[in-house]
Amino acid sequence: MPSVTSVTKHEPLLEVKHLTKYFAVKSGSSWRKQQVKAVEDVSFAIYEGETYGLVGESGSGKSTTGRTIMRLTDPSAGEAFFQNQDVFSLRSKELQNFRREVQMIFQDPNSSLDPKKRIGYSVAEPMIIHGQGTKAKRKERVLELMSRVGFSPHHLERFPHEFSGGQRQRIGIAKALALNPKLIVCDEPVSALDVSIQSQILNLLVELQSEFQLSYLFIAHDLSVVRHIADRIGVMYLGHLVEQAPTDELFAHPLHPYTQFLLSAIPAPHPKLKRERIILQGDIPSPLNPPPGCVFHTRCPFVMDVCRQVKPVNREISTGHTVQCHLYEESASEDLTISRRKGD
Ligand code: ADP
Ligand code: MG
Repeated sequence: MPSVTSVTKHEPLLEVKHLTKYFAVKSGSSWRKQQVKAVEDVSFAIYEGETYGLVGESGSGKSTTGRTIMRLTDPSAGEAFFQNQDVFSLRSKELQNFRREVQMIFQDPNSSLDPKKRIGYSVAEPMIIHGQGTKAKRKERVLELMSRVGFSPHHLERFPHEFSGGQRQRIGIAKALALNPKLIVCDEPVSALDVSIQSQILNLLVELQSEFQLSYLFIAHDLSVVRHIADRIGVMYLGHLVEQAPTDELFAHPLHPYTQFLLSAIPAPHPKLKRERIILQGDIPSPLNPPPGCVFHTRCPFVMDVCRQVKPVNREISTGHTVQCHLYEESASEDLTISRRKGD
């Protein structure tokens, strides 16, 4: 399949810059419209053949980030470039190409499988929508994809309810591959599955990645899931991308107190390696009214004065390892002095 443009090695396949998404909502009895600040100034890139893991508690803005990039919802601000094309201004034919090259796998595979349609039709559907191939060619492709994810030809005649959750996820993966995409946004694809099935699906995704030269944006609320699949990881908290690093680096040197908390919650593989579990105070604040300064300050064990008033900026601590935290800013106290002078 021809690509939109050719990509040189060092350019990202996808580049997200300052992505911001607010949802206007009516809250409670108030007449005033409020905004859910779901994603705030998020920037990251995904390179060809790479898996970028996005982790954070439920409600931290991971799905909204994925859905905005997929053009399923409009951004409030920011930019995204896919193969150097401005994603948010794609129209007609270019948008159609983009919708072929970027696919999504969901936590609930039922959301992409119509319960009333046979599996063979569901997997062929993207090709029908995009007017690809003849009926015979499409059938050939469906057989090939379904066999690759572990099914026999007779399965094509069955309905989604005749399969287990893990099987349905494999069918969802076959469907996502139908148009030969370059990037797949995997939104918690294993979160609803038993642990034994989770690793089957993760292994399948890893195998398919090299076979089909895929890149993944892999979303999960659990750091231990992304550890085995991601090359780099971004950690989200209340809409902010608070830390970003290559996977091994993040596990070896977690910098943000929130990342340290997430890591401390992963059960240690051996009792001798037992990590001290960090307990955070309070609950995650409402994105309707996020805390001023650093969004994590209300729960941070290391909170300083400056954290309550000044939003930390992204700071690169080592190659590819960035963090938004005043603990790593030499100028933190200076910022506080400036903001006090300004009367913030
Ligand atoms: P995650 O995937 O990390 O669990 P989401 O991106 O789904 O988080 O949600 C981030 C925040 O945005 C949450 O507070 C959620 O309630 C809110 N949100 C998501 N979609 C909508 C919407 N369509 N309308 C209003 N608020 C939304
Ligand atoms: Mg989600």
